[in-house]
Amino acid sequence: MKSSNKKSTVLITGGAGFIGSHTTDLFLSKGFKVKVIDNLSGGNLHNIKHLSNNRNFKFLKADLTKFDKKLSNFLSNVEYVIHFAGIGDIVPSIKYPEKYFENNVQGTVNLLSKLKIDKIKKFVYAASSSCYGIAKTPTTENHIIKPLYPYASSKYLAEEICLHWHKVYNLNFNSIRIFNAYGTRSRTSGAYGAVFGVFLKQIIENKPLTVVGNGKQKRDFLYVTDVANAFYKAAVTNLNGKIWNLGSGKPKSINYLIKLLNKEKDVTYIPERPGEPRVTHANINKIASDLKWSPKVSFETGVNNILENIDYWRNAPLWNKKNISKETELWFKFMKKYS
Ligand code: UDP
Repeated sequence: MKSSNKKSTVLITGGAGFIGSHTTDLFLSKGFKVKVIDNLSGGNLHNIKHLSNNRNFKFLKADLTKFDKKLSNFLSNVEYVIHFAGIGDIVPSIKYPEKYFENNVQGTVNLLSKLKIDKIKKFVYAASSSCYGIAKTPTTENHIIKPLYPYASSKYLAEEICLHWHKVYNLNFNSIRIFNAYGTRSRTSGAYGAVFGVFLKQIIENKPLTVVGNGKQKRDFLYVTDVANAFYKAAVTNLNGKIWNLGSGKPKSINYLIKLLNKEKDVTYIPERPGEPRVTHANINKIASDLKWSPKVSFETGVNNILENIDYWRNAPLWNKKNISKETELWFKFMKKYS
């Protein structure tokens, strides 16, 4: 941060969530004042409770779909915005599309409309690599856009809207399309999804890990502190109007993850899901060269960090072959055409 006495203020939406709370910690450590809004639907106060006595930190429970005076006032003096707030997961988005467009798209429009755009030094949007659908790999930022389900569509539309604010109203803006983030504080509640939460609870309960297909599929997993660091750099850079892919650039198979979790002998197989990529793999050349960013935490270290904190997932829902099959019925019904 520049060496003036006055600290800059950053607003982090969804700052009580998984990536949001790590990003909050990072900005505080860099000398910023941090304001967090979160409706606590996916976020958890537990993730920010260590900050309750930090005088540079402010929290407001608020929902971007229901703007009120308190929330509008909270936006005063904000110079940077990191926008994570939104809802995730594939299956519920197929079930309740309107909820996804309201939260992820209209919520973003509401936020942009209430900000003093000319005071914003940078607005960084947390976009999703799901915009690419089943992509050619390694995937670059100019890959064709093909969202396959409402969650993916809603995240992409909100990115387009931010870009529109950049073009029309001169909003200083960058976007980061996150591949598979993992790490401590990843969500323990709600719908079936995100392989780490599923496996960790299965480990806690000594139940077999539910492996999709043959487990050879690969994901571009990136540890959450590396994700947070990319958002920090995307905020303080002079570059403007950029879109970057963010991953480790080194996809790992689910079988390798199971090996690191020491559960190779305790797995059960569940059917491959239509519309799921075999491999996700971010081409990270652009973000690496533009922001001088690179991943610092190896997959092995990241998985180890998680295992050391496995108790965090104790209250997560326990998934098995049977309840996964029921939960993913809609997925198979509507995604069959992509198989
Ligand atoms: N996966 C799995 N078992 C599960 C849930 C997920 O083997 O119970 C696999 C899934 O097939 C995918 C990977 O884990 O290859 C990551 O899934 P996640 O839902 O976390 O991310 P996404 O598929 O959206 O990238």
